Amino acid sequence: MSKHVKIGIDLGGTRIKLGLVDAKGKVLLRREKDTPSRQGRSVIIDTIVDNIEAAIRDSGLRKKDISGIGIGVPGPVDSRRGIIHYFPNIKGWNNVPLKAILERRLRMKVNLDNDVNAMALAEHTFGAGKGTENLVCLTLGTGVGGGIIINGRIYRGSTMLAGEIGHIPINEKGPRCNCRGIACLERYIGNRYILERARKSLGRNITLEHLSGLARKGNKKANAIWIDVGKKLAVALTGVVNLLNPDMIVIGGGVSKAGDLILGPLRKELRARPMKDQARRVRVVRAKLGGDAGIIGASLL
Ligand SMILES: [Zn+2]
Repeated sequence: MSKHVKIGIDLGGTRIKLGLVDAKGKVLLRREKDTPSRQGRSVIIDTIVDNIEAAIRDSGLRKKDISGIGIGVPGPVDSRRGIIHYFPNIKGWNNVPLKAILERRLRMKVNLDNDVNAMALAEHTFGAGKGTENLVCLTLGTGVGGGIIINGRIYRGSTMLAGEIGHIPINEKGPRCNCRGIACLERYIGNRYILERARKSLGRNITLEHLSGLARKGNKKANAIWIDVGKKLAVALTGVVNLLNPDMIVIGGGVSKAGDLILGPLRKELRARPMKDQARRVRVVRAKLGGDAGIIGASLL
């Protein structure tokens, strides 16, 4: 195994994924474990440390052959100081200096960032957004996350919290969001809200896969839900396109598996809604790196 290898970790609410990644973004070795979310912070940290040490052992490399460790985490982070503000879905992570903790235990260099920023970096460097300068990356899932790359670099904002596209309001009035905002995009197209709507419209519980399947078979009610998701997304992204004039919008995450059921109406609206020259410029594509985006992006941190 060559030098210039880094370790990328995608710390998720359910799985911890780790990879040894080379300078070309190739994943040389993978490890994956369940996240012991209910066992508290110190068990999660132990799991991360054990996995890093096991991966290094398995690779046959020495610590000094590995140039660093990057971790993408599912919540807001101060990436400069390496402090996790909190995780929306795992308890006990308020203001945790994870960078310092891991550096002390591993005696290696560690960097942290939000997982969507890591994904944006991966797609920009090796994936769908290769060659672009200005890119917006979205993940559609339980939450709606965003990462912004401007002039080839992640845009972080003044307190490192930029990119919350899911919390852009798409109406003046509407339902209250977890973030305390009103009528946030996420409040309409987050996973559970799509499912809630499907249940009301179709009269039964249904999975997202099933909802896509029905729409593809021509079920009008199912299709109408996906069209509406695409249109609501377009309302928020019209603001983003007018504001940032990006080359590309990359869309990933579980809900994006509906593919053209969402992207079709989204592209149509994004040709018509934003200002003409911005609309002409922007391409809307699906993420390319799939499940590895988190690991690869983290290794780039
Ligand atoms: Zn919100």
